[in-house]
Amino acid sequence: MKRDLISKLVDMMCDATVYALTGAGISTESGIPDFRSPGGLWEEVDPMEYLSREALQRRPRKFWGFLRETVRPISDAAPNAGHRALAEMEKLGYIEGVITQNIDNLHQQAGSQNVLEVHGHLRTAHCTSCESVVSLQKAFDQIQGEDVPACDQCGGDLRPDVVLFGDQMAADFQTAVDAARQTDMVLAVGSSLSVSPANMLAVNAPRLAIINRTATACDSLADIVIHGNAGETLQAVVEEMRRR
Ligand code: NAD
Repeated sequence: MKRDLISKLVDMMCDATVYALTGAGISTESGIPDFRSPGGLWEEVDPMEYLSREALQRRPRKFWGFLRETVRPISDAAPNAGHRALAEMEKLGYIEGVITQNIDNLHQQAGSQNVLEVHGHLRTAHCTSCESVVSLQKAFDQIQGEDVPACDQCGGDLRPDVVLFGDQMAADFQTAVDAARQTDMVLAVGSSLSVSPANMLAVNAPRLAIINRTATACDSLADIVIHGNAGETLQAVVEEMRRR
């Protein structure tokens, strides 16, 4: 464990207003594959082909079936040490909150209060005609044979409240941009920082720290880079915070 880097990171965070920016890598230790690591989802299929707005419109049966299979490991997952450490940092006053690219709800389950979900979430779906909202599970329950989920109010098409390739960003993204403007520092964790526009929150941060297992697209811009697992590294960071 790189003690000197951890101590330097805590020094930086002491004097700054900080948001954490998390990606799929913080949840791999909860058993949810990321997209780009070896063995990640991207290796098996091209999510752009299956989880896009166009796929939902053109091949809804295939879209809903793929979505249900993709989210199965997410519904079974529990928060890990990394999620819990970020929740504790918020309680200790070291971070304002978490901006997450994830859709797995694990920050909330770990106790984080201020969570901005820039790519939406998997809790609900809504009707594209009358805007009625239903639980995503209820929509999944309607998938049978050739049937795809439909609104029980008006019969319109349902869509999940997650940002698909080809969609605009979720409303939380604008809130995150506004929050980032008031922020001195971003602590990016478990993200390749290659997905735009979410990665702009890291690119434009006055100060940037990165915790990631492998090199990211923004390492050369960062003030501190710690290559390691999110769980043990964040746990060590929060232990250092508690000691101070
Ligand atoms: P990514 O797959 O592009 O990058 C993940 C990064 O995390 C990689 O650089 C990898 O080396 C690193 N990593 C993996 N496990 C790690 C660990 N235990 N500790 C530290 N680093 C680790 O993910 P991204 O940048 O978030 O972009 C992918 C997009 O896919 C996101 O926008 C997100 O919406 C979506 N996604 C979400 C989930 C989820 O909700 N859990 C899972 C897969 C994909």
